[in-house]
Amino acid sequence: MSELDTAGKEYHFPVRVSWVRGVLEGNEAGPVGEDGKLDVRLSRSGTDVVVLGRLQFELVAPCARCLEPARIPIDEKLSFLMVPAARSKAPDAEEYEFSAEEADVVPFDGENVVLDEVVRDELVLQIPMIPLCSEDCPGMSAGSISGASSEVPQESLDPRLLPLLRFKNLKKE
Ligand SMILES: [Zn+2]
Repeated sequence: MSELDTAGKEYHFPVRVSWVRGVLEGNEAGPVGEDGKLDVRLSRSGTDVVVLGRLQFELVAPCARCLEPARIPIDEKLSFLMVPAARSKAPDAEEYEFSAEEADVVPFDGENVVLDEVVRDELVLQIPMIPLCSEDCPGMSAGSISGASSEVPQESLDPRLLPLLRFKNLKKE
């Protein structure tokens, strides 16, 4: 930390596949298989550290429609302020000049800038709720039904639809 000044310093970190695999454990999404990168500029602002950077990584998750791998390229700008934990917790910290909208505030121990958690959060944030291999993915059922005959086997019908079908059959007769 002591080498940091207001002019700042650039850092380039590889974002390792093995690390991402670890932090995303239990998540449906995982690394594609290539290391990504994190480029950051750290600069000191009083006791705080301003972090500006860019995170690039590619994740893959099963497509919500067809279960084929859906690629999730991530290229995000990072911008936040690391604030010594003791101060960020103090509710009466009068010297807070920035507002929450201006920058994300991440507490740190005042000495060591650790970006792991920020990067992990950013990756998780970028995983879509419904990953799709492509915007117009036809989905698994559409593909298999159109390939088969138009006669849908009875047992595959949603049982809740059966009364409706019977009703329609009656009307036809
Ligand atoms: Zn798909």
